[in-house]
Amino acid sequence: MPVIRTHAMSFDASVPVLVVGAGATGMTAALAAADAGADVMVLERDASPTGTTSMAQGFICAAATRAQKDKGVSDSAEAMFADIMTKTRGQTDERLARSIARESGPTIDWLMADHDFPFDVELAWRTDFGHSVPRLHGLPSRSGTELLGRLIRAGEGRVSLTTNAHVVDVYADDMDRVLGVGLLRPDGTRETIGCAALVLATCGFGANREMVRRFIPEMGDSPYFGHEGDDGEGIQWGMQLGAATADMTAFQGYGALSIESGVLVNYNLIMEGGIQINLKGERFSNELFDISGQSKQVLAQPSGIAWVVYDDRLRQSNLRWPEYQALTKLGMVKSAPDAAGLAQLIGVPATTLQATLAHAIACANGDAEDPFGRDFGRNPPLSSEGPYFAAKVTGALFHTQGGLVVDDTARVMRADGSPMPNLFAGGGTARSISGPGVWGYLPAAGLCMAVTLGRLAGQAAARQA
Ligand SMILES: Cc1cc2nc3c(=O)[nH]c(=O)nc-3n(C[C@H](O)[C@H](O)[C@H](O)COP(=O)(O)OP(=O)(O)OC[C@H]3O[C@@H](n4cnc5c(N)ncnc54)[C@H](O)[C@@H]3O)c2cc1C
Repeated sequence: MPVIRTHAMSFDASVPVLVVGAGATGMTAALAAADAGADVMVLERDASPTGTTSMAQGFICAAATRAQKDKGVSDSAEAMFADIMTKTRGQTDERLARSIARESGPTIDWLMADHDFPFDVELAWRTDFGHSVPRLHGLPSRSGTELLGRLIRAGEGRVSLTTNAHVVDVYADDMDRVLGVGLLRPDGTRETIGCAALVLATCGFGANREMVRRFIPEMGDSPYFGHEGDDGEGIQWGMQLGAATADMTAFQGYGALSIESGVLVNYNLIMEGGIQINLKGERFSNELFDISGQSKQVLAQPSGIAWVVYDDRLRQSNLRWPEYQALTKLGMVKSAPDAAGLAQLIGVPATTLQATLAHAIACANGDAEDPFGRDFGRNPPLSSEGPYFAAKVTGALFHTQGGLVVDDTARVMRADGSPMPNLFAGGGTARSISGPGVWGYLPAAGLCMAVTLGRLAGQAAARQA
């Protein structure tokens, strides 16, 4: 996957704006470029675009949107900026954070007004994990598949989407101006496409085990649950071209992935009162402290396994989530009429599970304090009688959060602070607003970075072209 330096190059075809990767970032960039009047082509390595985007729940955090106003939520770019800085302990790029906080709302409003995206604000995600107001926007099915499908349909007739096109080379001159790319077809044939501006939308490097071991050794041997095609090529081309990278140690983790089925267990089960126990039947953390960092808490347990335990109230309130429906259908939810029965079913000591549940209930009733500092008072207590339910989970790496340094128009920057001539990046390919670790990830920041930087990159690339 080299960058090839050349002065004169004759390409098989040329297009003003070229985008590599057809996830949320690439398709939003292409749509924005087309809206700005540019001819645009997207190259996607897979036969059919899915990306990590299709695996997502599809929530996008954004501030001061029309959708928020419709639900009576008062929000502002300043409030979102403050939340980003607090969550990242001040360790993220302030300028990028300001830009994302300012541009996320107009991005959602643009998709709603100009392209009929029916976003609404999900009130089940209130002020959890760092957002000071409800700010998660979702489409009716609450899935990334719908988001990507709508992005593709919105560009139909104006965005040229070419699949089975694995970009393997980038051609650039000595001034780091990108001239075009080389791509490989499944039958082994090669083609070249020239461009005036290139948008890198190949996501991060979660599927590249070598890069994960190098930059995020703490997750080097952990399960990866993002798209297999996201193996860091875009970031590597940027690095070879002389771009700066930042926060390469950052990532979005998840501590509730159903191991056998590969379906995520909705965190709402926990946010609304459920608990996580290990194989000894004991709780081991404040499950509400950090949704992303909970991945490491779970992986640190015996065999890297935990169970999400909940009652019938929580089962019923979570039936609407597509993931929960899939888990049930796949037989991943264990249930028993009481704690002893559940303990036997999931193989943990019955007396310990009974004591763990009793303690959680006492905390919720204000009769005990949680040694891990969880505020149980915000939800009704778990049932003291059952039935109880449990789903087996592990921790996983969802996607990486470090990448190419970009300015507030998504233009890729060199280490000396100068911009690359015609290179843009967004989503998982760009450095995010999560600081340097797992703990700085705000819920739904991944797709926020994808669509917000995607839109900015598309607009800037169209201007350039
Ligand atoms: C289970 C799960 C749930 C999630 N839920 C949410 C959520 O609700 N909200 C949220 O904000 N974030 C969520 N995330 C994170 C979110 O999905 C990502 O941040 C986002 O999808 C990244 O978008 P992207 O366009 O950068 O990457 P992708 O969607 O992965 O797109 C990259 C595309 O580039 C293609 N590609 C790569 N290399 C090449 C190449 N060399 N040539 C051609 N094509 C190439 C890939 O095949 C892929 O299609 C979730 C992640 C997971 C795993």
